[in-house]
Amino acid sequence: MDATRFEELCQGLRRLKLRRIREVLEDYNRLAVTQQLSYLDFLAGLVQEEVAARDETQHTKRLKAARLPCHKTIEDFDFQFQTSVSRQTVLELARLRFIENHENCVLVGPPGVGKTHLAIALGLKAVEAGYRVYFTTVQDLVDDLYATLADNSFRSRLRTLLANDVIICDELGYLPMDATASNHLFQVVAQAYERRSLIVTSNRPFQEWGSVFASTSIATATLDRLLHHVHILNLQGDSYRLKERMPIERV
Ligand code: ADP
Ligand code: MG
Repeated sequence: MDATRFEELCQGLRRLKLRRIREVLEDYNRLAVTQQLSYLDFLAGLVQEEVAARDETQHTKRLKAARLPCHKTIEDFDFQFQTSVSRQTVLELARLRFIENHENCVLVGPPGVGKTHLAIALGLKAVEAGYRVYFTTVQDLVDDLYATLADNSFRSRLRTLLANDVIICDELGYLPMDATASNHLFQVVAQAYERRSLIVTSNRPFQEWGSVFASTSIATATLDRLLHHVHILNLQGDSYRLKERMPIERV
């Protein structure tokens, strides 16, 4: 290709922000010549490169923004160890219809049974499908919202939070919440109601949520909205952490 022509083309691609095409253009041009690609195939190939690169960038951005604490998948979840939830139920959730329908998912059970693992795995599937996901522990969420009181930014923080399609609130119930924290969490649940999806994990059965929130009335109001359209996974059994520590006893 003529050098001036090539430089002009590169400038045009730069202006159009077609970075990937610019990167592969020379190689792709050579390939097109040797393989005698049609004009259409040549163009389609370049466009495909650009689209794939953009998808990849978006995926990386969404994954970073999701702040998942680690990489957990449904594929590496051992359903033979955790028998209180079926693979089928989890795979059905992983089809993400619940996100499309703005439904919630609540995982309840004692420590170590895989609640956070499954919540992350569903979050990861959602990121891969192009949804905006945000992972937080309930404690971090209420701390975060508490801090907004200092500069009166609660509303705008709530808006930012609800710009996500899925908000994962991990570990509800480990610590009791005061009136402010309870109210803030209620507002998140109320604003997300029928608009977004929440994935909540808790070590406490619903009957005990009254003592997690500052009052039974706010617990009831929160549960009412959270559980209206919900998929509940009740996980039971031994802690996987202990299984890993004491492999011999379980065999
Ligand atoms: P929980 O949130 O219920 O306390 P986690 O999801 O954090 O428990 O699980 C504790 C650890 O055990 C994590 O490393 C998780 O990946 C692993 N784990 C739990 N259950 C399973 C399982 N059934 N198969 C594979 N790993 C599991
Ligand atoms: Mg957990």
